[in-house]
Amino acid sequence: MKEFGFELRLCAHLEQRTDSIIARQLGGGITESGRVLDVVLIDQGPSFEQRASLTDRAIPTAVLEADIGPGRFKDWRRELGQGIGARRAIEHAIDIGYLEFDNTAGRERVRSVDRYPVDWFERIIAIENKPDLDKPGDLYEQLQFDISLGLVDEVVLTTASHVTRAHLNRLPDVVGIWRFNPGGDEIEIIRTATPLPIESPGMETINRLPGRTEVENIDPETKAAARIRLAERAYGKGWRTFTFPACANLDPASGPVEGMPYCEHFDRFVNPAAECGPNCPDHRSGPPPAVNLDAIRDRQSPWQAAPPRRQSRQMHLGDGW
Ligand code: SF4
Repeated sequence: MKEFGFELRLCAHLEQRTDSIIARQLGGGITESGRVLDVVLIDQGPSFEQRASLTDRAIPTAVLEADIGPGRFKDWRRELGQGIGARRAIEHAIDIGYLEFDNTAGRERVRSVDRYPVDWFERIIAIENKPDLDKPGDLYEQLQFDISLGLVDEVVLTTASHVTRAHLNRLPDVVGIWRFNPGGDEIEIIRTATPLPIESPGMETINRLPGRTEVENIDPETKAAARIRLAERAYGKGWRTFTFPACANLDPASGPVEGMPYCEHFDRFVNPAAECGPNCPDHRSGPPPAVNLDAIRDRQSPWQAAPPRRQSRQMHLGDGW
């Protein structure tokens, strides 16, 4: 099975058996490394329901880090600055229902609809998928990156391969190993992961050059902020991030898992971004399937991603700037 189909089947499997947030293809670096994590699991914390009640989208970190709470309306420029990035963050936070807006006397002020609970999540697990361990690609460098940085609590490798002694010898001891058969019922845990020191400084690999590796030291406060950003992105994005192509061969209802991009012609899941479109020789024009992925996420998850909004005032910022 191709890595994309393996990844989707794993996400669907985890969704059925945990109450964690499951997301895929999220940035796992802090500076400019460009590291992308295959799958991320965010375990619920004690205030999960309070977070869920705020908005079903990711709240911008810049807004969370500013001194903007649910009490007094505050001038957003004073709290975030004048930059275009600050304005976009505020506008987005208003759009998604996290901020209320007030422009009494021409002053653009905001406040949050409720307190943001930093303890809405606990453990973060990064999962690297490698269905065929005999084709490891960058696997070992990627695992080493995650371990050195220590942004997530645990790092796990998931594979469909039989894990040999030779494989084990090459995999860092702290990495958990799961064996997953996409057609099966259970994940076989071959080795449990060792928790990483998330509260200690980390080291991010920026660039690997012949004979030289560029790294950047990351302090614990920066890591803590990056963990909230990662958890927020996971919450807002989920794992059904694909779009369906306008091809009559695509039928999400035919596959073994609801709402996934299943191609009847090839009789397997396809990666629409990489495999579909007019360049596919077997493409047959037709309307894209009408599938509401957000509704499927709500139906399949043991929690509600999009509860009714509590926001009372939602307006766009004016053009006066
Ligand atoms: S474009 Fe090709 S791969 Fe994609 S659904 Fe159509 S036939 Fe299948």
